[in-house]
Amino acid sequence: MALLNILHFPDPRLRLKALPVEQVTDEIRQLAQNMLETMYDAPGIGLAATQVNEQKRIIVIDVSEDKSSPLFLINPELLASQGEREFEEGCLSVPEAYETVTRADTIRVRALNLQGDSFEMDADGILATCIQHEIDHLEGKLFVDYLSNLKRQRIKKRLEKHQKQKL
Ligand code: ZN
Repeated sequence: MALLNILHFPDPRLRLKALPVEQVTDEIRQLAQNMLETMYDAPGIGLAATQVNEQKRIIVIDVSEDKSSPLFLINPELLASQGEREFEEGCLSVPEAYETVTRADTIRVRALNLQGDSFEMDADGILATCIQHEIDHLEGKLFVDYLSNLKRQRIKKRLEKHQKQKL
């Protein structure tokens, strides 16, 4: 197990599109476990491989209070979505920014698990929001893209300033 470095907005690598995982190998399982550990450590409830500079379609999620429900989605595909739900989102790649985003309320997803088996699941509420947020990452999309230009620029300026201070 190892903690991975999380990229921060506006790092251009967050805009890269992730490629499908062709085979779920030990290497992929190790990466997914390291992502889970990194997410728990941060702490956060979801992490996409793009955020740790791996252009692979892998996301890890755990929306439970006690780290009891890790969910691994490899090559996730949104099969259906219904309704609308507003949720105040944050992101490990956009520290200290929380903004309301509207997404589908219920979704159906197909993915591979860590054994490489295909499965489908339904999700609603915070889990549905989180899955949609993480799938966006694999497309190089961030939750700040849903905000007004003004709000996004404000967040960008603050983070750039913050990063300079850390040098
Ligand atoms: Zn995120």
